Amino acid sequence: MNAKNGNVLDTPEKTFALDFIERNRQALWTLSDSIFYFAELGMQEHRTAGLMTGLLEEHGFRLERGISGFPTGFLATYGSGSPVIALHTEYDSNPSNSQKSGATEREEIVPGAPGHCEGHNVNGAVLVSSAIALRYAMEKYKLRGTLKVFGAPAEEQVLCRPYYVRDGYFDDVDIAFHDHIYDEFKSDYGLMQAALISANFNFKGESAHAAMAPWKARDALDAVVLMDVGMAQYREHFERGMTAHRVITHGGEQPNVIPAKASVWWMMRHPGAEGARKLFEQAKKIAQGACLMSNCEVEIDVRAAVWPVRGNQTMAEVIQKNIDAIGMPVWTPEEQAFAKALQKNAKVREDGLRAAPTPIEGPAVQIAASNDCGDISWKVPMARVWFPANVPNVTYHHWSAGAALATTIAHKGGLAGAKAMAVSVIDFLKNPDRVAEAKDTFRREIGDTEYKPLLPSGQQPQKDLNYEMMEKFRPLMEPHYVREKPVFAV
Ligand SMILES: [Zn+2]
Repeated sequence: MNAKNGNVLDTPEKTFALDFIERNRQALWTLSDSIFYFAELGMQEHRTAGLMTGLLEEHGFRLERGISGFPTGFLATYGSGSPVIALHTEYDSNPSNSQKSGATEREEIVPGAPGHCEGHNVNGAVLVSSAIALRYAMEKYKLRGTLKVFGAPAEEQVLCRPYYVRDGYFDDVDIAFHDHIYDEFKSDYGLMQAALISANFNFKGESAHAAMAPWKARDALDAVVLMDVGMAQYREHFERGMTAHRVITHGGEQPNVIPAKASVWWMMRHPGAEGARKLFEQAKKIAQGACLMSNCEVEIDVRAAVWPVRGNQTMAEVIQKNIDAIGMPVWTPEEQAFAKALQKNAKVREDGLRAAPTPIEGPAVQIAASNDCGDISWKVPMARVWFPANVPNVTYHHWSAGAALATTIAHKGGLAGAKAMAVSVIDFLKNPDRVAEAKDTFRREIGDTEYKPLLPSGQQPQKDLNYEMMEKFRPLMEPHYVREKPVFAV
């Protein structure tokens, strides 16, 4: 680590936390690699959540498992009183991107299996490692306050945290931190990511023999196709920043049976919550139009609905000061060579790993992707620790973004991320004025925007999501699991 501007880290509490995380680096790495090889899809992160909650419980956190109807979600609490500081992150994988870590070419661990191809495995390890370090720092230095550590399942389906907010888990939270993998080491503020509504449109008609009596049928697949045409036409009238993408999840069984049921799953986004809502309302009209034309009916099931992610400036600036002081990991020539070889094979710019943290230069540029922590960021001041544990320029959800995730690049970047999050939390635990300041800037930032969840009030999470795919692949993936257990030594 570079020691430049080290003075911001020079307090007994921060020195203790940094030393704790450094001493326990092997535990962070084993946890991160364990989650990588579990490679559990959203809502099926049973082994991942089990390992994370076991460690938190062992180190004195009070555990609530299965919160808001998410079997693999959790809340781990330590301490009491104010400030109440939340840490939260995700730990799910993606389908079909099983990739050998350390290989610079496409090489599957288990053919066709799910795999981490973004780095949520490191996210989970950073969360646990910084939380445990903080808990011992709080005890040793009698820091008052409450740590609330949230595990958020199924981020890849943008699913979970709006439910936590809706169910009141953030009502008493003062400020919240999110850690996420990237190739840069930075924090940022302002609008960062888009709002999203994700919904199934399930059409119902009536089947018949497709050759003998097609006039008797009402073809549900026709309705899916007609909705597709309607959405394609509507695309011309999208507001700037609106995007919509879909997969047909059910289109019938065989051509000589006219499908009585057909479904399409749409994700609809906009830079603002109202825009996403408007796009969804139009999609519902288009679905109704498709029903008129095909004599079918439609049931619409919202899978997820999130606000855009925003970052609080006060918090981001505190995090950034610590990041600048911690400095970028020092990469070895071998790590640089690996990164460049991977970039070459992924056909992206071959400029290796970054040498320095990225400075904050004004508000963030809002990207088109979403994250389900958006709702939290409109409920309380929130900021993100982006930590440098992946290779620049690779495309997330592509095999190349999975190739570094259990290498020393992920390990060193994760270690830096855990340190940055822990010492930034200490800044707020030690200075109630800073918490008040973050709340002040937050009020100014959101202005008169009224936070109303996009999530329908009675909506329940889909517990069986990804169940079959995970059950199919888990036995084939088990032989690759990490055998050691992560051990944090006090
Ligand atoms: Zn992510």
